[in-house]
Amino acid sequence: MTGPAGEDHGRDDDLPATLAERKMRFLFALRSRGVTDARVLTAMEKVDRGRFVRGIFAARAYEDMPLPIACGQTISQPSVVGLMTQALNIGPRDTVLEIGTGSGYQAAILAQLARRVYTVDRWKRLVREAQETFSALGLVNVTAMTTDGSFGLPDQAPFDRILVTAAAEDPPGPLLQQLKPGGIMVLPVGQSDAVQHLIKVTRTERGFDYDELRPVRFVPLVEGLGNE
Ligand code: SAH
Repeated sequence: MTGPAGEDHGRDDDLPATLAERKMRFLFALRSRGVTDARVLTAMEKVDRGRFVRGIFAARAYEDMPLPIACGQTISQPSVVGLMTQALNIGPRDTVLEIGTGSGYQAAILAQLARRVYTVDRWKRLVREAQETFSALGLVNVTAMTTDGSFGLPDQAPFDRILVTAAAEDPPGPLLQQLKPGGIMVLPVGQSDAVQHLIKVTRTERGFDYDELRPVRFVPLVEGLGNE
């Protein structure tokens, strides 16, 4: 006799998804949320998000949601990572600066597309853990440093592309200055407790063009270094 719906555990769709199935659904979710650039999708297929999420949340690495990481921070939602990367339109000779290393996931994706990636975070611990993951993955073109990213990275400037993964009320002046003419910066702007907008800033010969991309929610860009 067949039990009520939901009790028949012998059906295929009740079996836990294999890793390959979860990764396939992950890529499908990215496409359905607007990540359509083939190079970005290939980069995201190569970089295993499971390597950047630790502890109990690792099981959810292939879901399209932000997840907690150390120091009270979060690894961004994969579709947002994809849309930001796509908006940067990175070329293979580009040097990219990322503000907000966090888990290192976004930087590892940038490193698939750019010549050189610099990523900075205000937490020493996050930078150390991300560096360990980069070495384990054999990523040699990404350098992570502990510093307050609101001031950019003057020693390595100017940059072809800048990505900020924490929300500021306005684009920080030093970051605008460290963008090459023709360069693109993508960042969330707005107050941390309100709706923020992802914007794309393009530096032209005469100034800056601003495009609003979509509403987002990011942790705030905070001044000074963390104590861990
Ligand atoms: N890109 C990350 C997610 C970033 S979460 C990933 O792929 O996992 C935002 C990060 O910005 C946090 O780690 C936070 O510590 C960092 N951050 C906030 N303010 C900062 C600042 N002024 N300088 C550098 N990093 C900052």
